[in-house]
Amino acid sequence: MANTKKKAPLTRDKAERMVAGALHQLPEEFLACRDLRHAWKVQDNFHESDNGMTTRTLKCVSCETVRTDVYSVLKTPGMVPRMEKVSTSYAYPKGYQMRQAPGPRIFAVSQLVRYETLLRVLAATKGR
Ligand SMILES: [Zn+2]
Repeated sequence: MANTKKKAPLTRDKAERMVAGALHQLPEEFLACRDLRHAWKVQDNFHESDNGMTTRTLKCVSCETVRTDVYSVLKTPGMVPRMEKVSTSYAYPKGYQMRQAPGPRIFAVSQLVRYETLLRVLAATKGR
């Protein structure tokens, strides 16, 4: 028999508090990458894969997230040759990803990231 019990809906306030709490536990370099985006460095430059696609692997110099971009080289007669990005995938270091709060994302996490960064800056400069 199906469970018909309904969970109380997650309020926006509760969801934000969960995310803010998780951000507070996040290591410094992970918070910085969430605030400023990753600092990519080419790890393995364009090379042809077995499937005829071209792959490039990037690694973040700060948090060590690895990003793999797959491209299709387009050489159409009568058109300037180009590379179209087909897919991007990420391999995150342990602890980078936060448990997602259930329900739709109804608020801007970036605003909470920025505030957590501010708290840490203020804590670091206190008593100088
Ligand atoms: Zn990073």
